[in-house]
Amino acid sequence: MTGKTDIAPILRVALATPLRRLFDYRAPAECAAPIEPGMRVRVPFGRQRLIGVVMETALRSDLPDGRLKAVIEPLDDRPIFDRALLELLDWAAGYYHHPIGEVLSAALPKALRLGASLRAVEERWRLTAAGHAAYSSGEPRRAPRQRQLLAALSDAELSADTLQDRLGSWREAGRALRARGWVTSAEQPLAPQPQNPVLPQPPPGPTLNEEQRQATERICQSLDAFSAFVLHGITGSGKTEVYLRVTGQVLAKGRSALVLVPEIGLTPQLVARFRERFAVGMSVLHSALTDQERLSAWREAFSGQARIVLGTRSAVFAPVPRLGVIIVDEEHDASFKQHEGGFRYSARDLAVVRARRAAAPAVLGSATPAIETLHNVEAGRYVRLPLTRRAVQAAPPRISLIDLRANAHHAGLSTPAVQAIERHLGAGGQALVFLNRRGYAPTLLCTACGWIAPCTACDARLTVHLAAARLRCHHCGADAQLPERCPQCGFAVKTVGQGTERIEETLARLFPGLPCVRLDRDVVRHRGDMEEAMRRIASGEGRILVGTQMVTKGHDFPNVTLVVVLNADQGLFSTDFRAPERLAQTIVQVAGRAGRGERPGEVLIQTEFPAHPLLAGLLAEGYEGFARTALRERSEASWPPFSRLAAVRDSAATAEAALAFLTEARALADRPRGVRLLGPVPAAMAKRAGRHHAQLLVESTERARLHRFLDAWLPRVESLPSARRVRWALDVDPIELF
Ligand code: ADP
Ligand code: ZN
Ligand code: ZN
Repeated sequence: MTGKTDIAPILRVALATPLRRLFDYRAPAECAAPIEPGMRVRVPFGRQRLIGVVMETALRSDLPDGRLKAVIEPLDDRPIFDRALLELLDWAAGYYHHPIGEVLSAALPKALRLGASLRAVEERWRLTAAGHAAYSSGEPRRAPRQRQLLAALSDAELSADTLQDRLGSWREAGRALRARGWVTSAEQPLAPQPQNPVLPQPPPGPTLNEEQRQATERICQSLDAFSAFVLHGITGSGKTEVYLRVTGQVLAKGRSALVLVPEIGLTPQLVARFRERFAVGMSVLHSALTDQERLSAWREAFSGQARIVLGTRSAVFAPVPRLGVIIVDEEHDASFKQHEGGFRYSARDLAVVRARRAAAPAVLGSATPAIETLHNVEAGRYVRLPLTRRAVQAAPPRISLIDLRANAHHAGLSTPAVQAIERHLGAGGQALVFLNRRGYAPTLLCTACGWIAPCTACDARLTVHLAAARLRCHHCGADAQLPERCPQCGFAVKTVGQGTERIEETLARLFPGLPCVRLDRDVVRHRGDMEEAMRRIASGEGRILVGTQMVTKGHDFPNVTLVVVLNADQGLFSTDFRAPERLAQTIVQVAGRAGRGERPGEVLIQTEFPAHPLLAGLLAEGYEGFARTALRERSEASWPPFSRLAAVRDSAATAEAALAFLTEARALADRPRGVRLLGPVPAAMAKRAGRHHAQLLVESTERARLHRFLDAWLPRVESLPSARRVRWALDVDPIELF
């Protein structure tokens, strides 16, 4: 061939393998346009064909010419990750010490991992007349792949994606058949996306109060450069309104906005507020999407058709051309941390890194910012923008404690709590009862022999689900018939303690004729369940709400005037240094549901430890007072953010095997400088889903030292023979310690 240089450029490709390296390939012989970093390519890998992403190009490879294979084909005609995003992912692979190929694959929707086109066009393949004739006469006889492709197309025209699904690798056969004139392909626009209705001039939104105006102005002054802002506003202070104003300014500059929300916070209310305000395309990404829906949402974002991309955790990796701001709502929320699978990352932290690379502001909003985030404010890295008063109603709710030791209580509800509910319902308000435990009761007990229904796969008890007549494990999902008698001695069994299902039953008995609405994962299981519950609450048909964590976030219940926290004590005495922070956040968030409308709110917290410093401090000084104490305690104990942590976690069929691997791993770290190793120890709930869990902590007061240590240590840990006998993963900046 003419016009080609004889040194084919080398493509360094990231593949989803556990190997921490890139793989060199030659560019394909025939290729219309040059292949650039950020494009997907199909490559031979051993006996398989894999799809990878080109990370870099090079003139030479260290591999001998004979071993160098060629890329089979490019899948994109322009990069699906732009340079900034590709660099972010590369940075994340380094920071979280995870193989780049797996990081890229975690960042991509499944359909794109499998080779779907990112362009909103579809490649349609069909047989020609000659192809039909050839197929009928049994051709081609010695090319089974081509024969399969002819058969697939013999009665219908099919898209490339469908062919990929049905036949696997089919491209080569397709090209061969096309060369013989038996098939043709053509690109055809996909069915058009539903367009946003042409909105009349969108509503301008309410006039901002002074604090909102200052916060908005401050952020909008720095739209052309990176800064990290902490929008620290009490619930109902109008944070969302600030997000909307900032987004408006960003759109006006021709740029786009990325908005991250917690899994559970992605409420129809929030989406609706963005949709109502802006007449631009918006792409919504969350975990309940089908693969095809997710692909469409990515296409809208990638093409720039969507100017607002709103989504949960993994949306931090969504393509957003001309990114102008990243907003993280409820930035303290644990769901921003991916704590499963191989690649464990914090979407909140990556959002800040991404904003920096995009030279755009990051806005982290919360009524209860994470202690780390407040520390970043103290250190001058983030700018705090306070919203101290409610937008609609001036008085924040009145909070008091109910001492469970001094007050009679029945089935988990104290007399003062019941009286307060009566009072608020009588005055026409709604009451919200919060209990962070679903099911009817956490324990089934035999009073004769002391038997307690255990989960055989976990170090945990089975929870009674009375309406369903089941015993369920909330850790592994085990599910069994609810026995009427003790399986050990035949005596009658009884339930001990309470969950939301039982509280609902008790309230229905205490307040006949006043319907309860329960919000927990047993009730809200399908799309639409939440909307239905919210409708019943908004219409006033439900007067009392009973719920778990699910009620604490993102919802507006304007008529709720009373919040009762049934059991605040679970988090008071945990071994996890972050438990108090989580408890304080939950209490403040759930308390924030009271009195969002015109009427003042009241919050009652039931506890057996009213003198506990955490509760006392929270009441006296609010979340900020709590945060000050928490920062001091962490500094004294040298916990994050005053040190850096990474956890190596593993699980195995036996406790011995789980500990043995971590013990060997620890032994490989031979007197590391400036790094401490703690453990290994069995996890607090050591047995879960039939496997035994353990962890080893690595700690350092200096981030750089920790990472240098991990860089040197992990490859050696990986090569331990015992590493293959357990399942293990590294969690950098873990937020839960078991
Ligand atoms: P947050 O996100 O801080 O909890 P929201 O943004 O949801 O608060 O605001 C709470 C309520 O106050 C919403 O109903 C919102 O429409 C309203 N609101 C916000 N800002 C203003 C304002 N400046 N004037 C009037 N109402 C406002
Ligand atoms: Zn018994
Ligand atoms: Zn279990």
